[in-house]
Amino acid sequence: MEKSKVLIIGGTGYLGRRLVKASLAQGHETYVLQRPDMGVDIEKVQMLLSFKEQGARLVLGSFNDHQSLVDAVKLVDVVICAISGVHIRSHQILLQLKLVDAIKEAGNIKRFLPSEFGTDPARMENAMEPGRVTFDDKMVVRKAIQDAGIPFTYVSANCFAGYFLGGLCQPGSILPSRDHVVLLGDGNQKAIYVDEDDIAMYTIKTIDDPRTLNKTLYLRPPQNILSQREVVEVWEKLIGKQLHKSSISKEEFLATMKTQNYAEQVGLTHYYHVCYEGCLANFEIEMRQRRLLSFILKSTTLLFMNT
Ligand code: NDP
Repeated sequence: MEKSKVLIIGGTGYLGRRLVKASLAQGHETYVLQRPDMGVDIEKVQMLLSFKEQGARLVLGSFNDHQSLVDAVKLVDVVICAISGVHIRSHQILLQLKLVDAIKEAGNIKRFLPSEFGTDPARMENAMEPGRVTFDDKMVVRKAIQDAGIPFTYVSANCFAGYFLGGLCQPGSILPSRDHVVLLGDGNQKAIYVDEDDIAMYTIKTIDDPRTLNKTLYLRPPQNILSQREVVEVWEKLIGKQLHKSSISKEEFLATMKTQNYAEQVGLTHYYHVCYEGCLANFEIEMRQRRLLSFILKSTTLLFMNT
């Protein structure tokens, strides 16, 4: 089967650059949106040039220029968007509504993967303020995609390992401590951590797979379903030393959260749902068609469900 041509939007981002790499590695003709609005951001420009050296094609286009998006979309079969959606960096999820309009007008796209890659927003209808904005905005985009009749796959990638594991699941830390760790509650809620390069590889693997068409794809590596205590144990074994442990209760966590700025509060809300409520691992994936696929890649099991 001929491999789809892919357009990656947000290609210089934290996840986007990995999607470009994975798409090229898996032999797809890969296009990356080059936004003139990048201006003199030398790091982005150099990254784009390095993509080009690796075989990607750069295509000019801007969210402020509808026709440029339509023209870019017309070059390919599949569009993957990895636009920003983390408030402490930038949150532009709703800009994708412009992309949905362009894809609808172009009319040639076989699959659109919007910027999701986290907790399944469809399961977060009772999420707390202010962090629920992430899920609400992603649901607005989903509705627009489905209303426009655009074929899609939603990738629920759970926790990016870099953000969560690096700091032993302590908000605000991305490097592990060597002496002391603060457990969120009893530290026993299970979460799911996925390496960002794996997220990109699985995302690209799914684009030509008819089994994932119009479905949500959950990335749930069985060995990566861990509680905070289990994460800490792995680190303790590595450094040959036990960490001193304290814990922060749910009430203290929420009270402290309220003293933070808006962007921090959004992130902390997500930690709350993951680490105190166990929102990622406290449900079984419903497989209406009883289909379980295993891609043998770092022993990850991928489960599909109908949306
Ligand atoms: P980044 O913050 O790295 O930004 C990605 C890209 O968004 C940028 O490189 C840029 O693309 C584009 N962008 C930013 N602002 C604008 C704008 N004003 N106009 C047009 N384009 C813009 O994104 P992440 O990689 O951190 O996030 C990608 C997705 O992953 C999001 O949906 C996010 O919610 C999710 N995520 C999930 C996590 C988890 O733990 N599950 C953790 C982090 C993110 P360009 O290349 O064109 O400049």
